[in-house]
Amino acid sequence: MKINIQQVKNHIGAKQNFRLCFSAADLFEKDEYAWINDPIVATGEVINEGLLLKVSGTIDLVATFLCDRCLEKHFISIAIPFFEKYQESGAENSSDEITLYQGEEITIHDLVRESLILAKPLKTVCSEDCHGLCPKCGTNLNISTCACKKGVIDPRLAALQQLLDKK
Ligand SMILES: [Zn+2]
Ligand SMILES: [Zn+2]
Repeated sequence: MKINIQQVKNHIGAKQNFRLCFSAADLFEKDEYAWINDPIVATGEVINEGLLLKVSGTIDLVATFLCDRCLEKHFISIAIPFFEKYQESGAENSSDEITLYQGEEITIHDLVRESLILAKPLKTVCSEDCHGLCPKCGTNLNISTCACKKGVIDPRLAALQQLLDKK
């Protein structure tokens, strides 16, 4: 879960690729990560820019959500870009936007965790075409139909409803 920066640390312009795998249990409390499937893979590069080391890349994972309309489980692949600047602790001119590191390793544990929290969608649907559940009887209208709909519709509106159903 750490990037070894031994090779880039002392050479301005040097670049190093990395690929790290995380488990959700390493990053989150138990009740926070139900939506995340292992592994969480972070790939990217470290570039020595003189005073700073620039770390950037992408976090890839598969997330599990319950559809907001039909409540069925569905899976989404998520790719989250990340970017952070690191400076060796003890150096002068540090600012809030810069994360400090010590020694010859950079930990991106916090960076990955925060990126995941920010990327979590508030609402998801299994498909844009999901018909959801019948508000009356709870039937999953993707799988079957129910009788509720027909019963309540005024015959004069039936033609309109048919048009809507086709959408
Ligand atoms: Zn759905
Ligand atoms: Zn129904």
